[in-house]
Amino acid sequence: MENGENCCVKVAVHIRPLIGDERLQGCKECVTVVPGKPQVQIGTHSFTFDHVYGSTSSPSSAMFQECVAPLVDGLFQGYNATVLAYGQTGSGKTYTMGTGCKDGSQTGLIPQVMKALFNKIDSLKHQAEFQLRVSFIEILKEEVRDLLDSTIVGKVQGCNGQVGKVVTPGKPPVQIREASNGVITLSGSTEVDVCTQKEMAACLEQGSMARATGSTNMNNQSSRSHAIFTITLEQMHKLGSTFTDDSATIDDMSEDFLCAKLHLVDLAGSERAKRTGSGGLRFKEGVHINKGLLALGNVISALGDEKKRKEGAHVPYRDSKLTRLLQDSLGGNSRTVMIACISPADVNLEETLNTLKYANRAR
Ligand code: ADP
Ligand code: MG
Repeated sequence: MENGENCCVKVAVHIRPLIGDERLQGCKECVTVVPGKPQVQIGTHSFTFDHVYGSTSSPSSAMFQECVAPLVDGLFQGYNATVLAYGQTGSGKTYTMGTGCKDGSQTGLIPQVMKALFNKIDSLKHQAEFQLRVSFIEILKEEVRDLLDSTIVGKVQGCNGQVGKVVTPGKPPVQIREASNGVITLSGSTEVDVCTQKEMAACLEQGSMARATGSTNMNNQSSRSHAIFTITLEQMHKLGSTFTDDSATIDDMSEDFLCAKLHLVDLAGSERAKRTGSGGLRFKEGVHINKGLLALGNVISALGDEKKRKEGAHVPYRDSKLTRLLQDSLGGNSRTVMIACISPADVNLEETLNTLKYANRAR
């Protein structure tokens, strides 16, 4: 298995089809995919990524198989992972991840992760015992909010109808903590033990409904927050069984207990604050959002710069809540996939170009 030394961040582009509004406005498509290559062209610019999914292929299952399934497999070997959906508001991040209340709730990546996880657990359950936990938070204006808080969403039911535990009662703000071994934990947010795919899907659905949205003139469902759905997998090997997987044996980890987590992140819209055309409060939120996206860009490009990494260069995880939270799941032995979501419409050319440049920097 490749490790953090030579794999940094995989970047895929997802081009959604023109949507109703864009068709009504008479928009033309301004993005083309070079046939047979993971390359996109826009104006005079050309960018190559690890994968490109266009509107004509069947993106969801291919994207899942190529980009995300290896991360799910890695969880069973104890490797943390992060999937990030980046792009301007309306580019398809929520649809791609499956964090919306309606769209993509079946075909999005998270529902496919759930299916693959439970299938795999089912096939391995004679060798090991598994426990899954879920949390769902959002970061808005550099504050962490618990999307599974029972006072917002009602009671989320986990295993045997148990209600998710709020780790620290009394609703103090959710805090990001770093243990001496580098493990990042959240205190004050709900973690739900889940036994079935249905229970996990219920957490996704309830948290998605609780997610804050605000209206700006770009999109009245505009999301200014980062939403992070985290699945933690714990496994305890049954004595006397050799735990083998199709891809690897994990004997060499010399541990009977493994714990790994997968963060599935629907990032805030990457558009420039000025384009939302609203001043005051919205602008401040925009500034904060950019702080997370800016820090993420810096972290990812520091991780991807082999020369700098060899020199032990500083990776600026501490510059935002987003990067602090993802710290133990970006870089090192963990695997990261960024999916840059873009609209093909000519009206979005400038933002699409910004997205492709940001994604290009991550490679
Ligand atoms: P974002 O989360 O980036 O703001 P959304 O996921 O909400 O964007 O998508 C914006 C609109 O585009 C929604 O109406 C959604 O249904 C539609 N859309 C996004 N991706 C696709 C796709 N691959 N196929 C069809 N419609 C899509
Ligand atoms: Mg969205």
